[in-house]
Amino acid sequence: MVSSHSFKRVMKAVKKVREPGEKPEDDLFSVNKYVCDLCQGVREREEITQCGFCGRWVCRDSCWDDELKACESCAGLIMLAKDKEGD
Ligand SMILES: [Zn+2]
Ligand SMILES: [Zn+2]
Repeated sequence: MVSSHSFKRVMKAVKKVREPGEKPEDDLFSVNKYVCDLCQGVREREEITQCGFCGRWVCRDSCWDDELKACESCAGLIMLAKDKEGD
């Protein structure tokens, strides 16, 4: 779990890439496929998910941390914020 204190710290550290509800990037070469904002891999719509911290659309298989409910990029920042908890 991420405390609200850490959450605020993370929100400050994270650079917003997309707005909530903004659509994922279409793959130019295939219909109904989208590009992961982190690894640039092409995925089906149901295989990508939007990170609530930075707004990136990322693939669930390699760029999503299901435990932290954040993309791998934000997950790193969350872990840092958790380490500093209590100071
Ligand atoms: Zn990815
Ligand atoms: Zn993120």
